[in-house]
Amino acid sequence: MFSLTLAETAAALRKRQFSASELTETYLAAVEALNPRLNAFITPTPELAREQAAAADRALAAGEAGPLAGIPLGIKDLFCTKGVRTTAASRILAPFVPPYESTVTEHLRRDGAVFLGKTNLDEFAMGSSNITSAFGPVTNPWTRPSDAAPLVPGGSSGGSAAAVAARLALGATATDTGGSIRQPASFCGVAGIKPTYGRCSRWGIVAFASSLDQAGPLARTVEDCALLLNSMAGFDPKDSTSADRQVPDFAAASRRGVKGLRIGVPREYQSDGMPPEIAALWQQGLSWLREAGATLHDVSLPHTKYGLATYYIVAPAEASANLARYDGVRFGARVEGEDLDSMYENTRGAGFGAEVKRRVLIGTYVLSAGYYDAYYLRAQKVRALILRDFLDVFRDVDALLTPTAPSAAFAQGERMDDPVKMYLNDVFTVPANMAGIPGLSVPAGLDARGLPLGLQVLGKPFDEETVLAVGAAVEKAAGFAALPSLRAGEARP
Ligand code: GLN
Repeated sequence: MFSLTLAETAAALRKRQFSASELTETYLAAVEALNPRLNAFITPTPELAREQAAAADRALAAGEAGPLAGIPLGIKDLFCTKGVRTTAASRILAPFVPPYESTVTEHLRRDGAVFLGKTNLDEFAMGSSNITSAFGPVTNPWTRPSDAAPLVPGGSSGGSAAAVAARLALGATATDTGGSIRQPASFCGVAGIKPTYGRCSRWGIVAFASSLDQAGPLARTVEDCALLLNSMAGFDPKDSTSADRQVPDFAAASRRGVKGLRIGVPREYQSDGMPPEIAALWQQGLSWLREAGATLHDVSLPHTKYGLATYYIVAPAEASANLARYDGVRFGARVEGEDLDSMYENTRGAGFGAEVKRRVLIGTYVLSAGYYDAYYLRAQKVRALILRDFLDVFRDVDALLTPTAPSAAFAQGERMDDPVKMYLNDVFTVPANMAGIPGLSVPAGLDARGLPLGLQVLGKPFDEETVLAVGAAVEKAAGFAALPSLRAGEARP
C-alpha cells in the first residue's frame, strides 16, 4: 500500500482493493512505529482517523464518495481543527482546542479525507529548519550515507514534508509565508505547491504574516498535489482576501505537457555563490523542458535582490501585530502576575520561544513612530516593484524555472547560531510570496551526498495550471525514484 501514490490509492479504494479502514490502520501503525524517531506529528489523531475512514467506507459502498474519500493526510498544526488541539508548535497555544474548523480542512473533510494527526512545524511557522518548535525538532527521514547526522527537514512545514517523505501520510496540508511549502519539499524529496495568494482561504489558519501566508499541499507527486489543491482551494466569504474565482481542474492541467510554452530563466537567480551542483541541476531542468517542447528565454527581475531584505521587514511587522492577541486572556496559556501588565509579560515571556520574540521585536521596531516610513513603508514600495518585475516578465514567458533552495538539507545544529544565515535559505522562495504568485517545488535530483534537491516553477497569478504542467514535465524527465532511509515498509494489514 505504501508504494501507491495518492491518485493510485484513490483508484484502488474505488475498486475496493482494500478498504479505507484497512488503509488507515496501515498508516496509523506506520505513524506509531516511526513518529518517535521523526517527531513529524505533534498530535496523532487515531480516533478521528478511524471515524473518518469508517465514514469513507460507507460513502464508497454507497457510491457517494468524495474525491479524497479514505485518503490519509497529515494536517499542519497551524490549521484549526474543531475539537482537536492546535498548537502552532508554541507553548502559548499548547492548551488551545479550537471550537471551529479552518476552511481548508473543512474542504478536505467534505471530500472524504482522513486526518492522521497534526504535524510539527517551526513555532508560528517562523523558521526554515523545524528547530524552533516547542515540541522538539523534526528529523528528516533522509540521511547522508557518509554520516548518520540527523538532518533538518526544512521549515516551517517540516513535519508535513517529513511525514509525506517517510510515507506516514499520502499528502499533507502546509502553509507558505516565505517558502515553507517549497523549501521543506526540496529538503525531503517531495512535491509542494504554494498557490496564488487568495486561492485558498486563510480562515482558521493561525496567522503569521497575513499578506503573505498561503495554504497549499505537500505530496509525493505533482498530480497528487493537484488533487489536494482542487479540494483545498475555493472562495470563502469568511476571508476577505480569498479570491472569488472558479477552481479549475488542476489534476487535468498537470497532464497538459509543456509543448510551445515559453520558460523564463531569471538572470538574478544566478548568484556567484550558488553551489555548482545546484547550478548544474538547474541547467539540467532547463534542458528537460526544452526536450519536452518548451522554449527557454533569459529574463531579468531587477528588484528580486531586495526580496529577502524586505520580506524580513514585512513578515515580522505583520507577525508582531498578529501575535498581539496572545495575551493570556483570549487564547491558550496564561501565567499569572501581580497585575494585568505583569500577567501579559509573564504569559508572553514564558509562552513564546526565542525566534518568535526576535520577530516580534523586529516587527514592533519597524512599525514604530519614526521608523515606519523608513522601513515598513519603504519595504512595501519595494514589494510593489518586485511584483511589477514579475508581471513584466510574464508578458513574455509563461513560467519561470529556478532552484528551490540554495542547499540540500543541513544537519540539526548547523546554522543555528546565526539567524541571518538561516534567513538566507529563503532567498529563492520569498519573491513569490512578496508578489503573491504561485510557486511549486518538484524533486529533481540528488546532490553528491545523496540528498534530494528541488527545482522551483513560478507562474502568473492564478495560473497554477501552467505551473503544475511545467512541474509535472520536470518530474517526468527527472524520474526521481530515490527513497529516504527512514520510511514505512510495504506491510499488509
Ligand atoms: N523561513 C521563512 C521564515 O522564517 C518562511 C517561513 C514560512 O514560509 N512560514 O519566515
